[in-house]
Parts: sequence; structure tokens; C-alpha cells
Amino acid sequence: MVKENLENVERNIKLACEKSGRDINDVTLIAVSKTKPNELIMEAYEAGIRDFGENKVQELVRKCEELPKDIRWHMIGHLQTNKVRQLLGNTVLIHSIDSIRLADTIDTEAIKKGIHVDGLLEINVAKEASKYGFVEEELEEILPLFGRYKNLHIKGLMTIAPDVDGAEKNRKIFKKLKKLYVDINEKNYDNIEVKFLSMGMTGDYTVAVEEGAGFVRVGTGIFGKR
Ligand SMILES: *Cc1c(COP(=O)(O)O)cnc(C)c1O
Repeated sequence: MVKENLENVERNIKLACEKSGRDINDVTLIAVSKTKPNELIMEAYEAGIRDFGENKVQELVRKCEELPKDIRWHMIGHLQTNKVRQLLGNTVLIHSIDSIRLADTIDTEAIKKGIHVDGLLEINVAKEASKYGFVEEELEEILPLFGRYKNLHIKGLMTIAPDVDGAEKNRKIFKKLKKLYVDINEKNYDNIEVKFLSMGMTGDYTVAVEEGAGFVRVGTGIFGKR
């Protein structure tokens, strides 16, 4: 079933690229495998997927140890500062940098480990009280702060769009993240190079691709209900 689901998702991504004139090589599908067992992850792996997303540090680290070494693990969930040390070295990209305190910790721990870490800034575009992330209005104040980090490098923006019925309703959210991307790059902040937008989940990834997503994070659409 995972294989068929993946074929379906990949076909939809291809169509969305064609529709919007994008190069399919600019879109990476992250299979969100949180709560799912290794056997199902291996089905996706056998079908060619190498990018997987997890939202809990312990689970990510365990799967990273147990599964093939060429898997790229993406940390997509809210990250507590006391879990950062355990995470570093096991993830290719932290999508969920949602506070300066967290960024400080990641940089400090990365320096201690002697590694460089790439991260995305989580933006709460719709300003939902239930969600983490920076809101647009505070960006001007916080973005200059990233210039002081030596081992943490910001490579893009991430958002979790509202849970709506009908993907079209989130198009404006994705357009907004794309606009922030353009605006931030124009300002040339130190140590911030917005290359990637991480946006779109099972309910709305085709619209996110049309609006410029570099990473889409699809769980249910690949592995079924959690
Ligand atoms: C769980 C999760 C996803 C995947 O959600 P689905 O609706 O199952 O595709 C994507 N992004 C984040 C941050 C998640 O926590």
C-alpha cells in the first residue's frame, strides 16, 4: 500500500510542477514517518524514498540507529532545548526553529560537537494560538540576531498551514511564505540564505508545490492514518 500511495503522491507532485512550470528536481518529498514502524518505513525506502520526517527526538534517533545509514532524517516537530544535544548529528535539517533560545542552544551544542547545522525558521503565518513559530511582525527584530551564530545556518522557512477542508484555502498562506522568502533575501541578512520553503502536508501539498515549496511533508497520504 505504501508503494501505491507513494506513486500517487509523486504523480500529484509532478502534475503540480507541470501546472506551475516548476522543475520537479526542486521539490523534495519528505515521508513523515512519525509513529510508524520500521517495516513501513522500509517499504517507502525500497520504493526509493530517502528523506523521512519525525517530530520527536527520541523516535528520530532510535530510527536513525536502526535503519539504513543513507536515510536523511528531518526534524519537523517542536524541539525542546534539552533535547538538542541528542538530536545533533542525527538530522540533516531542523525545520522547526521557533525561538531565539532554541537557536542559541543549537549553535552552542553544534560548536561543542564541532559540526555545522542547517535549520529553517518556523513561521506561524496564520498566527494560530495553538502553533509555534515566529510571526511576521517580529522578523525584522529577530533576523539580525542570526548573524552571531557560528555553527547554525538558516537555509529557509517552514510553516504548518491551518487544518482546513480544501487545499485551496491555504494557497494564501503559501503565497505569504513565498513573499517573506523574497523579502528576506532582498535584505541580505548575515548567515541567512533562504533557499528552501518547507510547506504542504497531505491535505494541501499540491497547492504548496504550485506556490514554490522546496520540501513537502507528507505523512498520512503515504503511510495511512496515525
Ligand atoms: C505530522 C506532520 C506532517 C504530516 O502530516 P500529514 O497530514 O499526515 O501529511 C507534516 N508536518 C509536520 C510538522 C507534522 O508534524
